[in-house]
Amino acid sequence: MSRILHRSLRHTPPRAAGGEGIVLRDTHGRSYLDASGGAAVSSLGHAHPDVIAALHRQIDRCAYAHTAFFTTDVAEELAERLVANAPAGIGGVYLVSGGSEAVETALKLARQYFVEAGQPQRALFIARRQSYHGNTLGALAVGGNEWRRAPFAPLLADVARVSACYAYRGREHGQTLDGYTAMLLDELEAAILQAGPQRVIGFVAEPVVGATGGAIPPTPGYFRGVRALCDKYGILFIADEVMCGMGRTGTMYAIEQDGVAPDLVTIAKGLGAGYQPIGAVLVNGAIVECLRAGSGAFLHGHTYVGHPVAAAAALAVQQVIERDDLLAQVRKRGASLRRMLDEAFEDHPHVGDIRGRGLFLALELVRDRAGKEPFDPAVKLHAAIKDKAMQNGLLVYPMGGTIDGRRGDHVLLAPPFIASEAELAEIVGRLSESVDSALKSVAL
Ligand code: PLP
Repeated sequence: MSRILHRSLRHTPPRAAGGEGIVLRDTHGRSYLDASGGAAVSSLGHAHPDVIAALHRQIDRCAYAHTAFFTTDVAEELAERLVANAPAGIGGVYLVSGGSEAVETALKLARQYFVEAGQPQRALFIARRQSYHGNTLGALAVGGNEWRRAPFAPLLADVARVSACYAYRGREHGQTLDGYTAMLLDELEAAILQAGPQRVIGFVAEPVVGATGGAIPPTPGYFRGVRALCDKYGILFIADEVMCGMGRTGTMYAIEQDGVAPDLVTIAKGLGAGYQPIGAVLVNGAIVECLRAGSGAFLHGHTYVGHPVAAAAALAVQQVIERDDLLAQVRKRGASLRRMLDEAFEDHPHVGDIRGRGLFLALELVRDRAGKEPFDPAVKLHAAIKDKAMQNGLLVYPMGGTIDGRRGDHVLLAPPFIASEAELAEIVGRLSESVDSALKSVAL
């Protein structure tokens, strides 16, 4: 038995030996098409020569310097680039080591901002059901992923909760999309009023819901409505783009497509594309200025914030995305993948919804399409699909509990931006086989 506490304590996964492009190999020589980039991480695929060269250069130059004493050229250059390409109003960057840290940092920054802005009574976050914001206690508290939260619930801060924007399930019979959006915004406003508008710090949401719901895009106008409510009540809008950001949806930030500028944006995963652990919080300039004029410091910090090697990976990834025009590539390949999925699954009796943006797409599985009835959670269809896919040399990111933390199954796809049309076709072919053999293996 391995000494590592793996994700399952009963099963040791195969050992990864290495990879190239969209392929990963294990130590038995089996290869896998990486159609999910792990968990929407490996946006440039594996062993990208430019990123690896940048890492070697940085390690030779300066592998580490503690941020209580120094900054580095590479971290400064990364921050300049991130701010230059960020949504309107962003004026600063706080560099951390991953997504959960980014969310924790954003929550603390938002709270300290109101303390320093003379509104210390603001102490509550509002967030959505069926969301995931990370596994540390603050991030888990704002997250709405019920099975991840349940054992730790007594340790978690109170968070007010509203519905996800999930039209496939949430829209009532005969309701227009605009009517559904208006209903959700009314619910958010009611939650703000119930909490007491002057008590709320911020509203936290994933612009395109990732792991918990499976690439659920917002309805048109939803985030414009959210922004308007936040402005009306002086509340911060925190966009968690850890999974959907950094080009994954075809624009650098998913929220750009909704025409809205958040006050804080969390990013990770695609920022370093797996070459190094790195995350960041992008911060509105007014928040930075408030702290600068007030206490002069953000009361926060970790040993590895601003790590120069991590910053070098992220900078190289950003440079490759720009040089190779990969956002345009994501839009083009995303449209192709969507077409291929539609062709393979739109008449499939057990695929209820195909959705997403760019190269961030998902299938939701149902027992019957007309009634949208999910499979019995006990059969763990999502786990069967993952196993069959791995047997077929395919890595996808299926999850259960899509509807309410318990019921529902989806399969998330987030292939590297560099995937070719032929590779996408191969992914869809293998996925189709894997879904069908998983369906056969569970009692229908
Ligand atoms: N926020 C979102 C939207 C995520 O999808 C994730 C991870 O899946 C996180 C936060 C947490 O990131 P990490 O796993 O890097 O801590």
